[in-house]
This record gives sequence, structure tokens and C-alpha cells, in this order.
Amino acid sequence: MAHNAAGKFARDYSRPDWYWIECNDELVKQSPVWSRQSTVDDWLAARGWVKPFVLTGDWRRSTGDCRLETLDWRLVMIIKAAINGGRSKAEHAAVPVSPEEQATAVVACLKAGANAIHLHVRGTSESGQVSYGKESLFAEDVARTLSVVREVAPDASIGVSTGAWILPEPERFQAISVWKVQPDFASVNFSEDGAAELAKLFLSRGVGVEAGLIDFDSAQAFVKSGLAADCLRVLLEPQEQEMSEAMQTVRAMEDVLSAAGKLPPLLLHGTEATTWPMMSEAIARGYDIRVGLEDTLVLPDGSAVRDNVELIVEAVGRVRSSEP
Ligand SMILES: [Zn+2]
Repeated sequence: MAHNAAGKFARDYSRPDWYWIECNDELVKQSPVWSRQSTVDDWLAARGWVKPFVLTGDWRRSTGDCRLETLDWRLVMIIKAAINGGRSKAEHAAVPVSPEEQATAVVACLKAGANAIHLHVRGTSESGQVSYGKESLFAEDVARTLSVVREVAPDASIGVSTGAWILPEPERFQAISVWKVQPDFASVNFSEDGAAELAKLFLSRGVGVEAGLIDFDSAQAFVKSGLAADCLRVLLEPQEQEMSEAMQTVRAMEDVLSAAGKLPPLLLHGTEATTWPMMSEAIARGYDIRVGLEDTLVLPDGSAVRDNVELIVEAVGRVRSSEP
């Protein structure tokens, strides 16, 4: 049975199209989301679910068990579309770069079944502080990108990268501290200097924080920060390209986190060669998943992918056909 920090979820085989999430009191206590949120709506909002969704099941609490039944698999896990990363059009023609291209990709990915978006803001003007199309953390580019995307996807849950390769500290913190338009959530890499301070800045503004962990050390830094219970999600992002080595890193991070107490839901993803095998590991563990042109340019059979949508369709198919 699959578990994540929110509880366990599975298909109901007496009604094959149904899914359910079940939390016993122990899991409820362990989950910061559950303990802080008093209603289903709050909980769903904290998970970043995209509206509108249909809550078709019933909600009941008795004998210490909570069960949320639903026909919508999106209620049981996050499938996040990482639409561009730092990639250029030279790498793949379908990488969305301009705000308009990103907006189009976001709408298409949501339609294909993604329920959260991760994007890398790019320079939006020739006269800006970074070259047009290059990764940017400057307020004008963030505002322009989010405005254009929200215009066509007002209910989408949009997260942005804050990678220190885009802008190192202390410039990064300064640039982000003057953002006027905020994303729904931001990824903060705990392998980078200034991560805890940046996470606190986002939290103070009501922006959800995804804690990005790549190895044992970054997992330790995250636990030490004391922010685990306040984050929206933890991203397990092993960088090794050999699956056996990447899984060693995943287990090392899980060990560190297991001693951390309250945790938000975990999302596990690979990159390039590990993208698809790591997705299988994530689904088997009941973790949230992500895919997109940031992570891979090929389908599981190694053939070139057409665009982000094709990757999301493949991921959705895998989730829907997975055994609990
Ligand atoms: Zn990214």
C-alpha cells in the first residue's frame, strides 16, 4: 500500500475508477498539513490542488480514520509539469521561453492532467537586467511571466525556480525581496547558501516553499533549518545518472527525513537518464511526481519527445495504471 506524508492512497477495486486517501490518527498527527488545516478545503488548498476539481466522494471521520473518496486521481497525488528549466530552444524547439509560450505550455499541461507547474522565469525584454530568454530572478521578469500565465490559467498552482546559478547570494535574496507579484510556491535548494533565509522570506509572504534536496548533506541542512513542518513539499532530486547510485542517495535522504518529525508530502524525480525509472520508484512509494522538458527530452523508449504535453500524458498514464 502506498504511503506519503498525507496518508495512504489506493484504488478501490470494487469500483475501479475510484481512488481514496486514508489517514489514521497517527498519520494525521505526523502530517503538518493535517494538523494545521481544519477542513478538507484548507487541506486541498495546502496541497496546491488546481481548481476546479470535482469532489465526488464523501468525507467522514469515525473510529480514528479519515477517508476522502474521489473519482479524480488528481486528489491523491501531484503531477507537476517542469516545463522549461534552463533549457534553450537549441536543445529542443518546444521549450517554452517567452511568457506567452510558457502560458500556452501551462494551459496545455493542465489540460493533459498536470496539477502543478514549475517554471524558470526568463528575461522578458531586450533592455532588461538579463538577456532576453535567459533565466532571471528579477522582479519585472517574474511579474511579467506570472501575469501572462495567470491571465490564461488563473487557478493554476504556479511555482518558480530560485536556483543560485541564476543569481548568487546576496544578489538573489535582494532580487527576490522586491518581487511585487508572487508565485504560488517557490523551489528553494537546500544545497545552496542562504536557503533557509530565502525559505523564511517566502513563508513570511505566504508563498509556499518546496524544499529541494539533492543529497544527504542538503537533507541534513533542511532538517537543521527547522522549517520542515512549514514547507509545502519536499523535493527529492538525486543528481546521479546511474539508478543504483541515485537510489542510494534517495535512501540516504529518506533516512535523514525520517528522523525529522513532521513532514510535508514528498515529491521524487530524476533527470535525463533517471527520469522514467525514478518516476516508477516515486509512484511505488506514493510520492508526488514531476516531469517536463526541464527533466528529459525523450520518452521511456528513448525516442525524442514532441513537447511537454507528451511527457505529461505519459506520466498520467503511468499513475492511472499503477498498482496500489
Ligand atoms: Zn527547475
